[in-house]
Amino acid sequence: MADFADLPRAPLQRVSLDWARAAGVELAVLRLDQVDPLISGNKSYKLAGYWQQAKRIGARGLISLGGAHSNHLHALAAAGQRFGFSTVGLLRGEPHETPTVSDLQAFGMQLHWLGYSGYRARHRADFWSPWQAHYPQLLPVPEGGGGLLGAQGCETLISHVRDQPLWPDYHGWWLACGTGTTLAGLVQAEAGAHPVYGALAVPMDHGVPEQVAALAGPNGYELFDASRGGFGKVDDALLAFMADCEQQMGMLLEPLYTAKALWALREAVREGWFAAGTRLIYVHTGGLQGRRGFSL
Ligand SMILES: *Cc1c(COP(=O)(O)O)cnc(C)c1O
Repeated sequence: MADFADLPRAPLQRVSLDWARAAGVELAVLRLDQVDPLISGNKSYKLAGYWQQAKRIGARGLISLGGAHSNHLHALAAAGQRFGFSTVGLLRGEPHETPTVSDLQAFGMQLHWLGYSGYRARHRADFWSPWQAHYPQLLPVPEGGGGLLGAQGCETLISHVRDQPLWPDYHGWWLACGTGTTLAGLVQAEAGAHPVYGALAVPMDHGVPEQVAALAGPNGYELFDASRGGFGKVDDALLAFMADCEQQMGMLLEPLYTAKALWALREAVREGWFAAGTRLIYVHTGGLQGRRGFSL
């Protein structure tokens, strides 16, 4: 049976953006959006860590939670269908159709709608107990694939870059953060060899810095606020910037993570964070399926 490890390596691609070029900063994009048409983006690396653990303990599948546009549930459901394990998704809010929800159903994921207050209870210590009683064969995965197993799954991302002849001598990483789990995996894998710069799609005071510190310790990374006033907040300036970057890079982005991370990178470049000649790997963390929720 195929597994996450059989997914191909992500392409690494040089790009030119006028605002980076003006500062002499070189960029290459690690295209996690291009690994697979359905199991897309950073989520599959986090899920790989959980599925490995599930197999170790004899679980038959994974149960997790998210919103009606969730990239995480989408990758989970697609992986379950592809690799032959059961998936259950607990959804925020009241039942409604979105392109993502239709896909989840088509991929064979079992869905339960928790309402809004039910979803808010997800941080309580006893949240999983009834679900584990109902689905004893499934391993629970925290929201967004966060936590230690998720970070461990992301440590393999470094090999996508290390073995590529294009850029053996990069200086650091730049990527969007939600829970900070992907960043924590990269920090662990780098072990101080190269810094990892995280652009937070959620405000700084929402616990992400603490979560990253718990997973990866205090060193080897910097965090920037890329939220532009709140998670999910999208404005015209951001959309115009995104369209411009898409055109210059020859690839699609989405507003919530990948475009905000590039916006924050442009700010950091303008603030002089990076000397001319710096070579950064920008991780395209995917999320393009969620783009269908916007009229772009
Ligand atoms: C989930 C997601 C992230 C955030 O990843 P974390 O590991 O939670 O920090 C970034 N970009 C995209 C497109 C995502 O879907």
